[in-house]
Amino acid sequence: MNREGRAGNDSASQTGKEKNKWQKRIIQYSPAKGSRIMSEAPLISVEEAQKIIAAFPVNVNSETVPLLTAQNRVLARDSTAPFAVPEFDKSAMDGYAIISGDRSPVYEIVETIAAGTPPRRSVGRGQCAKIMTGAMLPPGADRVVKRECTIEENGSMRIVAEDRNRNVRVKGEDIQVGQRVLTKGTRLRAAQIALLASLGIADVATAKPPRIGILTTGSELVDPGTPLGPAQIYNSNYYSLAAQIGDCGAAPVALGRSADDLKPTAALISSCLTRCDLLIVSGGVSAGDFDFVPTAMQQAGVTMHFQKIAVQPGMPTVFGGRGDKAVFGLPGNPVSTFVIFAVFIQPLIMRLLGHDFRPRMAKVTLGSGYRRSQAARSAFLPLRLRDGRAEVLVYHGSAHLHALSQADALLYVPAGQSEISSGSTVDVRCL
Ligand code: AMP
Ligand code: MG
Repeated sequence: MNREGRAGNDSASQTGKEKNKWQKRIIQYSPAKGSRIMSEAPLISVEEAQKIIAAFPVNVNSETVPLLTAQNRVLARDSTAPFAVPEFDKSAMDGYAIISGDRSPVYEIVETIAAGTPPRRSVGRGQCAKIMTGAMLPPGADRVVKRECTIEENGSMRIVAEDRNRNVRVKGEDIQVGQRVLTKGTRLRAAQIALLASLGIADVATAKPPRIGILTTGSELVDPGTPLGPAQIYNSNYYSLAAQIGDCGAAPVALGRSADDLKPTAALISSCLTRCDLLIVSGGVSAGDFDFVPTAMQQAGVTMHFQKIAVQPGMPTVFGGRGDKAVFGLPGNPVSTFVIFAVFIQPLIMRLLGHDFRPRMAKVTLGSGYRRSQAARSAFLPLRLRDGRAEVLVYHGSAHLHALSQADALLYVPAGQSEISSGSTVDVRCL
């Protein structure tokens, strides 16, 4: 019986008989394991899985782009200052430039210096230059009396109130020439872009955003914008993954959807791997009759590095590689997809960007206690943070996107721990 009847362009599924034939073949002729015997795959800890992923070798490719195109990208090389900042001694105030220690009762104004115009005359005792903020200090002068402390009349200036400040920004006081101002691996946000612009840097060497392919499996899925048929659901994982990938500064690549069918899934995984730097396959990794992805990955030439993590949600997550391309297979439940991406995939994407990624952590007080009956797996719980207090969100299983949409952070509960009392201080991972 073909359950992919409504799957649009999806290719025809296999019959149960055909599938059994495939499974037998896999078990008989290949060291690869079929989805039927997934439960035999060793269960590894969150930390082991993170270690295996961290050991996957990556290449960072770079490209030079105009400064504003570099927004949210990661610097591929250290940036150094081509000149000192400020490049010359300049006034920090609108006022009058004089010689420090010159206490003349009245000062002759020798010229007016605007920002952007070099001074033409030097200043001696009993003299001053009227000067604007940012203008170059004239030779001789080494301090500025701000305008508010003076009176100007008939081409002269008198100081009528004490100005204790020197009001001069000295050459090189912010940045020395040749100084390293930003290090390779820095994410370029507005402040970093401003700094580079101030140094006259118009083009920047950045990590080329890696192409992260998303292949969705699931014959029940339709895309938003299309009416739902009976028993169908919307494909939210493609959208959540694409958004998370975009947040990382990488480029999501839509690789379409595959029916829950071994042969076409294997062929698609193989061809998709040529179109991206890292591939994420959504759905089809669990123990169901139509979960073919781990077998399909192996048929596509992917070497499997792990096939099960002792984590909740997301236990059936698989990870492997073909050449220098990493492949993740994620369980289709939307919360699993989101959490597994944040915990396991984002760090690898950040490495592809050359970014020294550390998840942003916060210490919070748990508003109400947490208890679980089974503690064999580590868990990541969505939390809402309000005024420094954290509440574990009520969460009806890994399809519950509504709870996730309220979450500000994830709480990690290690395997073996079954409760956390109210009022405890916990470290959480900010989303
Ligand atoms: P699977 O891992 O393929 O067995 O799917 C587990 C659950 O997640 C099922 O209820 C699927 O309908 C659902 N699911 C799978 N893929 C998606 C997706 N792309 N978007 C939303 N839900 C999905
Ligand atoms: Mg599925």
